[in-house]
Amino acid sequence: MDKIVIALDGPSGAGKSSLAKQISKRLGIVYLDTGALYRTVGLYAKKMSADPHDEKAVEPLLGTLDIDVLIEDGVQQVYLNGECVGDAIRTPEMSMYASAVSALPSVRAFLLETQRGFARRSSVIMDGRDIGSVVLPDADVKIYLTASDEVRAMRRTKELLAKGQNVTFEEVLSDMKKRDHADSTRAVAPAIKPEDAVTLDNSELDEEGTVKRALEIIEEKTGRGSGQ
Ligand code: C5P
Repeated sequence: MDKIVIALDGPSGAGKSSLAKQISKRLGIVYLDTGALYRTVGLYAKKMSADPHDEKAVEPLLGTLDIDVLIEDGVQQVYLNGECVGDAIRTPEMSMYASAVSALPSVRAFLLETQRGFARRSSVIMDGRDIGSVVLPDADVKIYLTASDEVRAMRRTKELLAKGQNVTFEEVLSDMKKRDHADSTRAVAPAIKPEDAVTLDNSELDEEGTVKRALEIIEEKTGRGSGQ
């Protein structure tokens, strides 16, 4: 079976990770959630009391930061200096920390090789903000997944409430807009739709409808469907 590399980009709350998990399962390929890597760097900055916006404070920490990604029972686990970070990276605070450190050139350079290594070793679907544009410009398939602001904020709110976090729709919407703005206007690797990506707007699709459309796109680009 030929190797297949899929780049999945798009703003927060578009459903990238749900879609990537399904595609990974149905095509039997690895899924790498790259946002988790930025969140882990953010968590480390917080632990070390560094200002996540300050390159001078964060860059020296990278020398003492070891990030490992293991796929355990089909689930990605990130290890920070040997310790599994679990859900500690999934809080709204860590979303903002991740967005801040992700604007730093040293952090992006630090994570680039980890991400590319995955695509060299195996068939993969990788989700993030700059996968099709910077990390894997030669990906076989590039999908840009998006949805309206309100739909994305509502999904994120439900997800966070289900995890027991105390948030409101308004807070989530406002945080999301701030983060999207910061991500798409930063100087290094801004979150953009790669020119050769296919846009999948799922504002009016449910999870299964989104998966179906993505599989169609993959098949159109590679001739490979979930039955192959
Ligand atoms: O996807 P997720 O919400 O986990 O990403 C957290 C943050 O990490 C994003 O807001 C973005 O700033 C950053 N990120 C990035 N490039 C990626 C993945 C995530 O800049 N490839």
